[in-house]
Amino acid sequence: MSKDPASLVRDEIRRLRAYHVSPAEGLVKLDAMENPHRLPVSLAAELGERLAGVAINRYPDPNAPALKRALREAMRIPAGQELILGNGSDEILQIIAMALAKPGAAALAPEPSFAMYRMSAIAAGLRYIGVPLRADFSLDKRVLFEAIAAYRPALVWIAYPNNPSGNLFDRDTILRVIDASPGLVVVDEAYYAFSGGATLMDELGRHPNLVLVRTVSKLGLAGLRLGCAIGPREWLDEFEKLRLPYNVNALSAAAGELLLGHHDVLDEQTRQIVADRAALEAALDGIARIERFPSAANFILVRVPDGPATFEALRQSGILVRTFHGSHALLANCLRLTVGTPEENLRLVDALRSILS
Ligand code: PMP
Repeated sequence: MSKDPASLVRDEIRRLRAYHVSPAEGLVKLDAMENPHRLPVSLAAELGERLAGVAINRYPDPNAPALKRALREAMRIPAGQELILGNGSDEILQIIAMALAKPGAAALAPEPSFAMYRMSAIAAGLRYIGVPLRADFSLDKRVLFEAIAAYRPALVWIAYPNNPSGNLFDRDTILRVIDASPGLVVVDEAYYAFSGGATLMDELGRHPNLVLVRTVSKLGLAGLRLGCAIGPREWLDEFEKLRLPYNVNALSAAAGELLLGHHDVLDEQTRQIVADRAALEAALDGIARIERFPSAANFILVRVPDGPATFEALRQSGILVRTFHGSHALLANCLRLTVGTPEENLRLVDALRSILS
């Protein structure tokens, strides 16, 4: 055997493709579900002062109590539920997959959904089962419950709302999934802020196998890399053992604490994005060759006659969106459009109108 990656790296890792992030320099960036708004100048100045005072010669406090208090308040986390912090919710997904990867165990997720469910399952050594959604991206109950019964997954991922489709799955069906699952069900509420209040937070503690995942990324703080798992202590105590001691750096912790303390500013930006989403939906509906899917998130999935060509033409006009053509049969010719500022949305609609006419 030679001493090279081809013979030494696990086969399933060699078959993976690294998470792709398109270069965005000089483009209107509508590909990654970021909040397009910057902080108000006075708050940015306060942030600068706060960060200048952080003792970066020291390791961060691994428990980050002040940050956790700010998260608990901003996300209205019930007092009896535990919280662990991740370097983005991506890291939380990875920690959960690692914890549950007993030899032979399986993870299951509806598809298409967030790419990192499959990636983190496979990276952890879990078998991964993707269960197709229906053509309208709703849960296919028959196929889903059959798969749960057949594979007995140790882990089920549910994105609520779902990415990249943007819709909310039926809440009662999710509750039935939690009941029917022999393993842990992780409900990922990354897009909670845009969902009109749809959450399973009130179900925590009523089921032995439910954990929620949240992030501050979509609230306007994607650059901080800060996410969390919320749920019963029995689960989170196990996950805590896999969390690297200093996974949230001191600057992010200080910034998160300060900015979540001003969550009214972020909440106002979120309200603006929800209003702008409605305007963008209406404008997209005025373009004849676009099929638009309903969204409870800060992005909108559309289908056009030729997805790859439209993606490229948008890029030529200076606008970066995300193309999903080729990633899943249900996403043929689909583009995911992040809601930007009103000006960016207008530019997007104008470009789409001229490309598709
Ligand atoms: N969950 C879902 C459903 C997502 O779409 C994303 C980001 N695209 C994440 C989790 C990860 O977010 P972050 O790591 O920024 O918290």
